[in-house]
Amino acid sequence: MRPSFHAQLVNGRTGDAALYVDHRYERRALLFDLGDIHALPSRKLLRVSHVFVSHAHIDHFIGFDQLLRASLRRDVEVRFFGPPGLIARIEAKLGGYTWNLVDRFTTNLRLAVSEIDANGAARRARFQLRHAFAREDFEARPRGDGVILETGLFHVSAAVLDHRTPCLGFAVAEPVHVNVWRNRLDELGLAVGPWLHPLKQAVVEGKPDDTPIEVLRRVEDGARTDIAALGELREALRVTPGQKIAYVTDVVFTEANARKIETLARGADTLFIEACFAAEDEALAAERAHLTTRQAGTLAARAGARRVEPFHFSPRYEGQEARLLEEVEAAFHEGARTAPVTPPAASGDDT
Ligand SMILES: [Zn+2]
Repeated sequence: MRPSFHAQLVNGRTGDAALYVDHRYERRALLFDLGDIHALPSRKLLRVSHVFVSHAHIDHFIGFDQLLRASLRRDVEVRFFGPPGLIARIEAKLGGYTWNLVDRFTTNLRLAVSEIDANGAARRARFQLRHAFAREDFEARPRGDGVILETGLFHVSAAVLDHRTPCLGFAVAEPVHVNVWRNRLDELGLAVGPWLHPLKQAVVEGKPDDTPIEVLRRVEDGARTDIAALGELREALRVTPGQKIAYVTDVVFTEANARKIETLARGADTLFIEACFAAEDEALAAERAHLTTRQAGTLAARAGARRVEPFHFSPRYEGQEARLLEEVEAAFHEGARTAPVTPPAASGDDT
């Protein structure tokens, strides 16, 4: 089955952080971080429905104005997720412009912002063009299981990581895909029909085998409804895992961060992870609260990711991309073969 998500590093492996994740079948896209996004054409910006901001360092957030400019005439709600403080930052950015002519617009762009803390949600607010982007506050709805968004088509989890400021890591995952084998359905004496939808839903939700399902059983003169247990119907189904993409950037290499990244990115098809510094510059990476290539590869291996895509290479390594990639890959394959490498115990201001 063709994967639903197509992910693209907007500025390649160097430059500002921004990952554009297009949903092929839904005419919408997710944006992880908002660094310089000039490389994105407006037709792509106009698909953005959700924006996930890891933290507000300028190379992760300066693209906000460009997204706003491109989206101004959209009649949609764009949702933003980020660490505590994001609402005030967006309010400040919107407050930098004059909005006296917004009553001439026939559209109403809404920006809905959720701040995510260790409990799952801290605050929510909305800014509507119709109201000159005046801030409206709402009560937060913490879930506590790390899931910050659930759409039915995919869900997004977040982890609060340490970059000497809270920095969010994200993972977007689809539920399992459930397809029906028509011939096996025939063999079971069942007819196709709308009843297959709740059956598929029960599998997606991980319901137990004894869950009763209303089925359509073929009889001589047509079909009649009947009840069957979910377990009896499984042989007519093909279940394939959904796609999972994880995004981790700007983190210091501590065991606390490593454990959270491991949980967040567990089994990801692709882990996009920063690797700012070369392996030999470990001390510098620690000082700047970033990862080295080796650490990024190790973390990807610990998470059991199928593929690792490093990015955010420091400009100091210009022309050495191949070498940095090799360092990541070497640590990734080594880590996947051997026991996990443990980062040094957290100390001082790293925690
Ligand atoms: Zn940063």
